[in-house]
Amino acid sequence: MDTDGVQLEGPALLADDGQAVDALVMDPEAGTRRLLARALASRGFAVTVTASAEEARRLLRGKTFPLVLVGWGDPGDPSGEALCRALRGPLVSREAVVIMVAHRNDGAEIQRALDLGVDDYIVLPSLGHQLETRLRVITRRVQRLASRLRSEDALRTALDRDEFRLVYQPIVALSGGKRVGYEALVRWQHPTRGELSPAEFLPLCEASGLVVPLGTRVLELAVRQLSTWQRLGHPMDFFVAVNVSALQLAAPDFVQNVLELGRASGLRPRQLKLEVTETSLVSDPEEAAGKLARLRVAGFSLGIDDFGTGYSSLSYLHRFKADTLKIDRSFVGALEADEGAVSIVRAIIAVGHSLGMKLVAEGVETVPQRDTLQRLGCDYGQGYLFSRPVSPSRAP
Ligand code: C2E
Ligand code: MG
Ligand code: MG
Repeated sequence: MDTDGVQLEGPALLADDGQAVDALVMDPEAGTRRLLARALASRGFAVTVTASAEEARRLLRGKTFPLVLVGWGDPGDPSGEALCRALRGPLVSREAVVIMVAHRNDGAEIQRALDLGVDDYIVLPSLGHQLETRLRVITRRVQRLASRLRSEDALRTALDRDEFRLVYQPIVALSGGKRVGYEALVRWQHPTRGELSPAEFLPLCEASGLVVPLGTRVLELAVRQLSTWQRLGHPMDFFVAVNVSALQLAAPDFVQNVLELGRASGLRPRQLKLEVTETSLVSDPEEAAGKLARLRVAGFSLGIDDFGTGYSSLSYLHRFKADTLKIDRSFVGALEADEGAVSIVRAIIAVGHSLGMKLVAEGVETVPQRDTLQRLGCDYGQGYLFSRPVSPSRAP
């Protein structure tokens, strides 16, 4: 790679994760390239320099740069324009700061670059002063972004490398103890950090939209697992519940994806239960209700998760015809100490039953909790008392 002999001239600028903050400079003109690289390096950025849009695109495919400086030379400069066009596509994070370096003060050219999604521009004759000012304004933002983007890159790589797997937690009938289903829970088999639980990566997946491809992957894994169990001759008298996030449900091709997955697998759709939280129904209730209704008509089961914690509203409950209602584990955990929790759980069970749903209590850890739930008429339980989530070889 052409680094034009750039060296760090000041102390390194570090992101929140303690690593250097990367910047990419693309300019076909050697002198400008060197100037830009030196200015960034003197502020501590780890600079990668390239002369061609093609090379820049290759670099951007492998790594996310929070700051990109694009030189746009002569009017109609094909390399600058080509890169700018690519910039707001899948190559560059939407939050990355992209600055065009215009080699002349040509309003039309500058406007074109801005239209292509460039955030800001600097005009070459006053480069030194303008770049200094811009960098002062954006450095902290770029610095914060750097560690985020790196984590997102790691997640994207993990999806490519297939590092996610599912564990399965049994759901049992409270009377009799028969296993009626499983909840599939995602884990990241991280190459160096070991097995990571959703709390460690889901928030970033949600924030970056990666929860959509992750969710698709999870559905594929669950369906494939069901097929495997069937092939192995297990009696298929149980459901597998898969968590569906709000963004995933909102994705335009969600219903189509699930229907196709179901068709391709040859399984009975009832065996797949889609678990949604009330919160995922809030942003566009009509849209969400319509999608879930189509899936239910196609035979899939639906479950409402974490009931009682989100924007609990009884109006959602009667609009979304679901098969099960899951009582959040915060209520279950409070059953022994708190009479109020007993009253709430009793009420949730009454509402659920009167709407024709089965009730599942999650986070059941003790025998008194189970006994109380059973006494209150709850149908199913899930929790460490019965089993931790296990790998598919230990289920069903
Ligand atoms: P959730 O859907 O409410 O799942 C139940 C969580 O409670 C799981 O945590 C499970 O391991 C944990 N749990 C089960 N029994 C007990 C118990 O007796 N005591 C306690 N304290 N906890 C218990 P996990 O696997 O860490 O998942 C956390 C959350 O991450 C899930 O909550 C769900 O919202 C989300 N999640 C997990 N897998 C997926 C997935 O594939 N896609 C999406 N979108 N979200 C997922
Ligand atoms: Mg769940
Ligand atoms: Mg839950």
